[in-house]
Amino acid sequence: MAREILAVNSQPDYSTSMLDDRFSLLRERLFPFKVLDDHGIPLPQEQWPVIRILNGEMLKGSNAVDIRSYVLDGREIELSITGSPVFGKGGDIVGAVTIMRDVTERRGLERRTHEALKALLAMAEVLVLVPDNAAEVHLQSLLKEKKTVAESTVARRLAELTRDILNCQRVGITTIESETTVLRAMAIVGLSPEQEVQWWAEQQQHESRLSDSRTPELISRLRANEVLQLDMTQPPFSDQPNPYGIQTLLIAPMCIGDQLVGILSLDNGSIRHEYTQEEMALAGAVAKLAGLVIERERLLHEREESRANEIALRAANRRMDEFLGIACHELKTPLAAIKGNVQLAERRLQRLISDRKTQIDRLLPDLLENANRQTDRLDRLVSDLLDVSRIQIGKLEMRSELCDLETVVQETIQEQRMINPTRSILVEMLAEEAVPIEADADRIGQVVANYLTNALKYSSVDKPVTVSLEMEGPVARVSVQDEGPGLPPAEQERIWERFHRVRGVEVQAGSGIGLGLGLYISKTIITWHGGRVGVASTPGQGSTFWFTLPLAQQQFSS
Ligand code: ADP
Repeated sequence: MAREILAVNSQPDYSTSMLDDRFSLLRERLFPFKVLDDHGIPLPQEQWPVIRILNGEMLKGSNAVDIRSYVLDGREIELSITGSPVFGKGGDIVGAVTIMRDVTERRGLERRTHEALKALLAMAEVLVLVPDNAAEVHLQSLLKEKKTVAESTVARRLAELTRDILNCQRVGITTIESETTVLRAMAIVGLSPEQEVQWWAEQQQHESRLSDSRTPELISRLRANEVLQLDMTQPPFSDQPNPYGIQTLLIAPMCIGDQLVGILSLDNGSIRHEYTQEEMALAGAVAKLAGLVIERERLLHEREESRANEIALRAANRRMDEFLGIACHELKTPLAAIKGNVQLAERRLQRLISDRKTQIDRLLPDLLENANRQTDRLDRLVSDLLDVSRIQIGKLEMRSELCDLETVVQETIQEQRMINPTRSILVEMLAEEAVPIEADADRIGQVVANYLTNALKYSSVDKPVTVSLEMEGPVARVSVQDEGPGLPPAEQERIWERFHRVRGVEVQAGSGIGLGLGLYISKTIITWHGGRVGVASTPGQGSTFWFTLPLAQQQFSS
């Protein structure tokens, strides 16, 4: 067996040498092998299991050593090694018995299962982190932030430029909303930081509209693209609040075509300044430019926003489609492979046991059984994730055909009894004859199975679970009752949400990893069929999960 495992037979001259010296012989025999620890790091020779045994160590039980090795035909294999020194009559070590178990396949299986689980959890995380349209919303809010920031930065830069060009003390830019004529301050330069804070606060406090102005004839002149020079010490302005003691205010319209989109205002504070025609023309030109820049900026953002929305929308959809694809590929495929491997290994094992009556590592069948269960569980989780994705993009397909609800329930119970042979699953069929429903039998079975596995999973192994089916006028009702932890009223609502799991409700039986998807999917399926779901529960006294389905009008032809 050792020759087979180490592929010694592939090297015909491997064991021909006839060296006298035991240690030279040993070295020569061991030399061709490369020995690595189970992380793939080369092991120094003194740590090779056979050397350790020769040095008197007994390797057994939890001391078994896992190594990787390149064997003589070049393959890398994984070995679990135990062994014992062989003592001579005088008590000296004369040899070593080394038992190697080739665990390559089993370890590979474990690793793949682990990797599949990791990938699955990563995906679950992606799903949890990006609920429904969060990507879109986030993008939008980002854009919005950018929009106000960008606009005010642009406006501020323009105001600064204006101040430099016109050599004035203060410049403000205000835009006018086209429909409402609400004035919105975009920038102010030339105030002290404290004043600026106060100025912005005032702007936010009262909203003013151009149409409310007390000097409509001035507005008309602005609309006519005229730059205005206002003497603030004269009526009608002299009785208006003038916190900065402005003497002369210059207002230039920001027009695009014949539309007034904003105003540029500038002043020199208490310094009396008579603006020349040139200055006024310059202010007019700057305002026009500012209007164009701001408008262009606004349009750019608007376009960006709508484009981004569309992109976000498409991206969200694409992500979901991609997820479906990836999930299928990344998870279903290795799962199928794992499943195949396990089944193959099981069959081989059976053959080995019956053909050769060999003593097989007693753990092996258990391990395989375990791997089998793990893959089934993973498979279910993956299916749940895929179902959720399908629900989200509206692609959960369901058929509708006449079937018997009682058969569906009975079959599901049988399956669960096979999987959980030690559990007591009681049945109360209160329907006297077949219970016809128009439904997707597989999907309804999925719901019953989910209720049932939850009941078994969350109650202790010695507690029974009762499934009942009864007729209530035009509907049939299926209930699954357990003696588990029960649920407080607030949780009874929330458990139907995607990814919701109740804190403190522990898995009692089996090692099921729950993602909190089963009930969400169940509800979706039952609602699609025109039924209702619910739970009746008292904390500490168990739960009864139920669903109803409308009975089919049509009866079975006998
Ligand atoms: P999971 O895969 O986590 O079981 P489900 O959607 O089926 O997902 O259930 C959501 C949560 O509801 C569970 O995590 C558990 O906290 C709670 N729950 C479900 N069934 C029961 C039950 N029979 N008894 C107590 N709690 C339950």
